[in-house]
Parts: sequence; structure tokens; C-alpha cells
Amino acid sequence: MTNGPDPLTGKTVIVTGASSGIGREVATMLAQRGAAVVLAARRRERIDALVESILEAGGRAIAVPTDVTRITDVQALVQRAIEEFGRLDVLVNNAGLARLGRLEQQDVHDWSAMIDVNVRGLLHGLAAALPVFRRQGRGHVVTTVSTSGIKISPTMAVYAATKNAARTIMEGLRAESTDGVIRTTEISPGFVRTELADGMEPSAREQIQAGMREFGLDPVAVARAVCFAIEQPDGVEIGALTIRPAVQD
Ligand code: NDP
Repeated sequence: MTNGPDPLTGKTVIVTGASSGIGREVATMLAQRGAAVVLAARRRERIDALVESILEAGGRAIAVPTDVTRITDVQALVQRAIEEFGRLDVLVNNAGLARLGRLEQQDVHDWSAMIDVNVRGLLHGLAAALPVFRRQGRGHVVTTVSTSGIKISPTMAVYAATKNAARTIMEGLRAESTDGVIRTTEISPGFVRTELADGMEPSAREQIQAGMREFGLDPVAVARAVCFAIEQPDGVEIGALTIRPAVQD
């Protein structure tokens, strides 16, 4: 272990879904460790407030209101990061939506909403960032997947499917990136105490919030994993990390 500068210092990192939960904690920790962070989410007042607190603490951050389901928003987000900080080192695709329910409930609207955010949103991020990474000769994509894609529970079929689509896209990107220019990391959290369940229908919300309360991890645990993946030296790729509460089945 050396006492040199923090390897995160000077990196420019976009974090989507930075207005709450895991994304908020990831952005905060990256900024504390010297990265310039670009905060993306739809709730502008939330990301503006987080920028303010990062700046007050001596960090570097900007907020870019973004709906990841719109490709033009995501392109403008990447553009803004480069205008402000000169380059983009890492894209953390973390924005996500969970609308749980049994398949026979036929919540087709919720299914589409999850596909739009969790799959199309990720693809929009790749479409916007990969040309930049290629031009720079380096870049890193980190995507928040989920343990719900590993053990498929009732009510989680479509959510899990979107997360496994994300996992497949990330593995495809890894397979296409063995020239060393682009590093890829999938982070799979288990239960984490966030706002993810807030928009669910009441019975699913009760069930998920009870799990979060009982044994959910602090989002800091996931933020540490994201920082660990990003801080690796050139040529070292942390492909996948799973972070669960030790008591989660
Ligand atoms: P939160 O609900 O607290 O955060 C979700 C974030 O996604 C918010 O910042 C929200 O911002 C953003 N978001 C949602 N839709 C959009 C959109 N269309 N455009 C841009 N941003 C959007 O939940 P978590 O922190 O838990 O979720 C973060 C990620 O972690 C998700 O991908 C989730 O699937 C995943 N995950 C969470 C687990 C958990 O137990 N909490 C477990 C496994 C994975 P805004 O509404 O302001 O746009």
C-alpha cells in the first residue's frame, strides 16, 4: 500500500440516478475522493442540492437534469460533462425502476416503464459514451444490475428480466472490448435501503420495504464497491461484484 494520490482524483464520472439511494451515495463518495461528478436524474431540485453540498465540501460537481429514456437527454448529458471537465472517464449507469407484480396482473404499462429505464436507458448511455471513450482511447462503464436477476422471485419476473438484459448487454460490451480501451463492471446489489420501493403498488411496497428495514444494506456498501471497481489501475477490470446483506437468501 502506497500513500500516493487517490486514484479517483481527477477522474470525471457521470452517475445516473444520482437524486437518491445508491446513485446519490456513489456520487457523494466519488466526489469526496476527488472525482469530478456529473449528476443525472429527473428531479432537478434533488441533484442541484447535492451539487451544492459537494461544492461546499470542496468537491467538484455539476447537475444535468436527464431522463435516461430520451436519447437526446443522454447525449446532452455526455456533451455537458466534456464541456465542463474536458473528458469523461466513467459512466455509472445506475438509474433504475422497479415496479413489481405477478405476471398475471398484466401491468403492461409498468413492464414498459421498466424496460424503458432499465434497458433502453442503459443502451442510451452506451450510445452516447462509447464514441467518446473510443476517441479518448479509454473509458469505463459501470452498470447497477441486481441479485433479483440471479434468484428469480415471484413478482420480480419483468424487473429481473430487465436486469438480466442489462447483464447480457454488459457482457456483450466486455466481449467487444478486449482491446483494452473500454472496461466494464456490473454491480449486483441485494436489498439496499433506498427509495426504490416507493412507487410500487401497496402490497409489493410493504413487502420490499419490510425487507429493506429488516436487513437492507446502507447504500454506502454499494458505493464502496463502485469506487473499488473505478480505482483499479489501467488494465485491471473488475467484471462483476455482488453485494448482499449476509442474511439474504
Ligand atoms: P432509488 O429509487 O432510490 O433511485 C433510483 C434513481 O433512478 C433515482 O435517482 C431516480 O431519479 C432515477 N431514475 C428513475 N427513472 C429515471 C429516468 N427515467 N431518468 C433518469 N433517472 C431516473 O433506488 P436505488 O438507489 O435502489 O436504485 C438504483 C439502482 O440500483 C437501480 O438500477 C436499481 O434497480 C438498482 N438496485 C437496487 C436495489 C435495492 O435494493 N435498492 C437492489 C438491486 C439493484 P429521478 O426520479 O429523480 O429521475
